[in-house]
Order: sequence, then C-alpha cells, then structure tokens
Amino acid sequence: MALTGASRNTVSARVDQLIAANLLEEGGRGWSTGGRPPTLLRFNSRAGCVLAVDLGVTSVDVAVTDLSAQILQTIGHPIDIADGPDLVLAEVDRLAQEALAAAGLTPADVCAVGVGVPGPVEFSTGRPFHPPIMPGWHDYPIPSAFARYECPVYADNDVNVMALGEMGIAGSDEDVLVVKVGTGIGCGIIVDGRVYRGAQGSAGDIGHISVTPPDGQTVICRCGNENCLEAIAGGGALLRDARAAGVPVSTTRELVELAARGDGSVLELVRNSGRTIGTVLASLVNFFNPHRIVMTGGVAQAGAPLLAGIREAVYGRSMPLAARALDITVSDAPDLSGRLGAALMAIEGFLDEDSVHQLSRADEQAAGVSPAGTRTGR
Ligand SMILES: [Zn+2]
Repeated sequence: MALTGASRNTVSARVDQLIAANLLEEGGRGWSTGGRPPTLLRFNSRAGCVLAVDLGVTSVDVAVTDLSAQILQTIGHPIDIADGPDLVLAEVDRLAQEALAAAGLTPADVCAVGVGVPGPVEFSTGRPFHPPIMPGWHDYPIPSAFARYECPVYADNDVNVMALGEMGIAGSDEDVLVVKVGTGIGCGIIVDGRVYRGAQGSAGDIGHISVTPPDGQTVICRCGNENCLEAIAGGGALLRDARAAGVPVSTTRELVELAARGDGSVLELVRNSGRTIGTVLASLVNFFNPHRIVMTGGVAQAGAPLLAGIREAVYGRSMPLAARALDITVSDAPDLSGRLGAALMAIEGFLDEDSVHQLSRADEQAAGVSPAGTRTGR
C-alpha cells in the first residue's frame, strides 16, 4: 500500500473485490512491523484461463494460458485468411476447443479472449477496418465469433499484439518501438509498458510514411500513394527488387536464407532496405525518444545486414541525446510474441477494475448474495 499511493480504504475495497473473484488467495504470514503479523496475499493465476489467438495470413496459432500468461496448451494449423471470417473463425473455434480439452479445461474456465489479426482493427469494437490483405473481413465483429465463452473478447492488429508480447518476454515498463518488417511494415508503440493505440487504433502505421527512394524512382504503394516506406523497403519490395536483379526468389523466407548464406546482391538489397527504414526510425526516435527498438517479422530474421543499415541511418540522423543510450535489437522470440501478446491483452482487459467488479458481483449473485450485476461480454 505504501507503494500504491492509494488510501487504505481504496486498497482494501479493491482487495476484497479481488478475493471475491477468487483472484487473490492467502499465502502465509508476513513479517510483523509491531502488531499482529500481516496475512500475505498472492495472485491466483489458476483462477481461470484465457484464449490467445495469433491469426496470420497463412496460419493460426491458438494457445490456452493461465492468468499469468503461462502457456498451458498450444495448437497451430494452416489457414488462408482470404477464406473470410466465417470459415477462418470456425477453424479457430475448433482449435480452441481442442486446446482447452487437452489442457483439461472447459469453455466455462475461459475468462477472456485475445485475438491478433494481420490488419488494422478498431480496438473499441474489435472490427477490422478495410484490411488490405484480409478480403471479406471489413467491419466483421470478431468478438461475436467467441460468444460461447461469455467473456470479454479483445482484437487488435498483430503488430500491437506482438509489441505487448515483447514486453511480456522482456518484462519491462519502458518506452519501446516494436517494428515488424514482413511483407509490409508496421510499428507497435509501447509507452510505460502499455500499448499506445491513438484515437482510432491506427497509431504506429508507419508503413505508409513517405520516403525518398534511393534510386530516385517512383513506386506506387498498394494504398495508392507514391513512395510509401513499405513500397520501397518492405518484404514485398525486397522480393520485387531481388527478382529485377535476377535473383530467383519467391518468398521473403528464401530471400532471408540467401542473405544468411552471404549472397552479395541480396545482402546489399537488405542493407539498403535497412537504411530506408532507418531514416524513418530516426525521425521517430527524435519525436518519441524510446529506450529500445525491437525488430521483428520475417525480414527482420535477416538480422545483421538489416540491423547494420538501420543503425547506420538511426545513429547518423537522430539527435545525440535521444540516440545516446538507444538499443536496437532483433526479437529473441518472434514466433512466441504473437500468442504471448494476445494472452497479455486478454488478461489486461480481464483484470481491468470494471471486469473484475462485474465478475465478483456475478459470483455473489450465483451465491444468492446480491440480486444485481451480471457478467457480460462485449
Ligand atoms: Zn502506402
């Protein structure tokens, strides 16, 4: 309590609420500072579970975690996001039930659901908004697909979700930019350890910032504008430029493998892409002054040559005070961060004061204590 700065009554009411919801349990006696030794309380992370869904363009991973984001069970399966929400989310539901059963849990144990999707999402409603690579998903209410769990459902774009996952892996409350370089380019903005989404949920969409192409050409982006960052330096652009240079590649994975084997022309393309991304990041560093930048996504797996280009531009163009202690790294766990972030998003929403309040009131109601209050989803 000394640390929270809240009054004794406020803390005590919140603790009662958490105990009523079975989220706090007694865990022995603490050291006395004079009177009766205090009772220690600990977080009951097994009071329920969450479903974490990491939807990609060609695959989905579904995990069941406890309330501390410890993964209890996880299942992955190939999908085609272009099959549309009805088919894809039916498959997600099947995988979720399989994972729950394998973990020895039931739909009633699910406290919240977190879903990461590869496109822009209006966070307050969980509806994708004109997602360019998800035909048929515009305005689809993703939470409705999880109605059977009767719990809150949170959907956000995959970069924000991965950013949250990176924070979970690093366990930090720093200011961080998590930059995904896949086919496109996006950025999750972490302020004090929390995702910053902006007014409509589109903060961090850096892929469409205008840049100067290195060769002076004009490239039309899939958004219709000229010379967007991802049209010049994203994975799709790298593939296009590699093929134009006579390198026979069809996926960014093949491109990254060639870079790892030291193919000279591919290395130069990746380094140039790093420089272009770095000029945008330098502006962001001057504006935002983050502690760290974490690179993730398929192209980031190229590692050293991409980082070399990015560092050259960022350290060369950022203001010295902002760049002095700035750390730029590649994610340690790019495959895990989507699931972990979806779990953390669900847990964060579930432990939100209003949700817990509703839950404890529903428990009281079930026990015949109070006639008011129900546990509702969104
Ligand atoms: Zn664009």
